[in-house]
Amino acid sequence: MLLLTPGPVQTHPSVRAAMAEDIAPWDASFRPFYARLRERIRVIAGGVEGEHVTLPLQGAGHMILEAAIRTYVAPGGAILIPMNGEYAVRMARLAREAGRTVVELHAPDTRGITPEEVAAALHAHPECGHLGMVQSETGSGIVNDPAAIGAVVRAAGRRMVLDAVSAFGALPLDLAAQPELDAVVFTSNKCLEGLPGFAFAVARVDRTEQGAGNAGSWSLDLSDVLANARENGMGSLRFTGPVQSLRALDVALDRFDAEGGRAVRLARYRANAAALHRGLAAMGLKPYLAEADQGPIVVTVHQPAGLVLAEFVAALKRHGVTISSYFTTEAPSFRIGAIGDIGPDEVALVLRAVEAALAELGLRQAA
Ligand SMILES: *Cc1c(COP(=O)(O)O)cnc(C)c1O
Repeated sequence: MLLLTPGPVQTHPSVRAAMAEDIAPWDASFRPFYARLRERIRVIAGGVEGEHVTLPLQGAGHMILEAAIRTYVAPGGAILIPMNGEYAVRMARLAREAGRTVVELHAPDTRGITPEEVAAALHAHPECGHLGMVQSETGSGIVNDPAAIGAVVRAAGRRMVLDAVSAFGALPLDLAAQPELDAVVFTSNKCLEGLPGFAFAVARVDRTEQGAGNAGSWSLDLSDVLANARENGMGSLRFTGPVQSLRALDVALDRFDAEGGRAVRLARYRANAAALHRGLAAMGLKPYLAEADQGPIVVTVHQPAGLVLAEFVAALKRHGVTISSYFTTEAPSFRIGAIGDIGPDEVALVLRAVEAALAELGLRQAA
């Protein structure tokens, strides 16, 4: 079965095999491994030694995102969020339920937010000390550019928290060049092509220290994760975690290096996404995004008239492909992931499966 939800994503068998071991997380032999893995991740983020630190949490992307908001946006603080997709909606909910004030910057879900829009909103909302942004919107496939947006955040003297859950390891990000970024958050299971289980922030050390006392939650306090690392070492966890997924991630990072790193991975995803976009359009399906706005992570198309998503998803499964069973775009759509351990052969297989599934459901339009 090909897993194109995305994520979790399709992983390599060697990545999955790395999980098949019982591990004691507080064991002396685990500690150097975990400390080294944290360094590897900091380097991929462009983090500077001593200035940035990898702060892991067991769990999902939502949890590390909430932890980052709680740690870096002080209680009583306000955060501006460009609302151009489902994950922005989720970020806003996490921030509100943490008691922070959310100012929504509305924008269509079919293109990235522009630096001009963000600059104007920051000017209009001096109460917003932070911008919260999603780098790749996994519902639609659009991309918000952290370098361009970060520049206006920096110029306005504000700070930023970035949800790069479906971007990190593929789309460009250089923490060293973006001092306004308090933290970028992501997980082990999307573009890094590991298994789910752990989530990560790569964060500024100074801002994390200043965030002590902000979180209002011990388990979601990233300043406490840092304090624990200082007290007990970078190889120590605070609470029992799914450490097998860290072993899998280490193998996945070996594969990332062997592939040639971020830029080469991005090129593979871009080729996957372009072939999906073209192939689906050739079947008469209408892409949700213009080609210029199509990011490399996920390809979304409008549902053709008469399509029942659950039936389509079930039909695709009979042809060996699992896609997301729900959509989050403004108009009804379905989406196919371009990320994970997949290339041209898998994309061709998916396109054949879509064609067959549409035919079975009587929805195959004349191309
Ligand atoms: C997948 C995803 C998340 C949430 O990750 P979970 O691990 O499911 O909590 C958050 N933001 C973006 C952009 C994502 O793609």
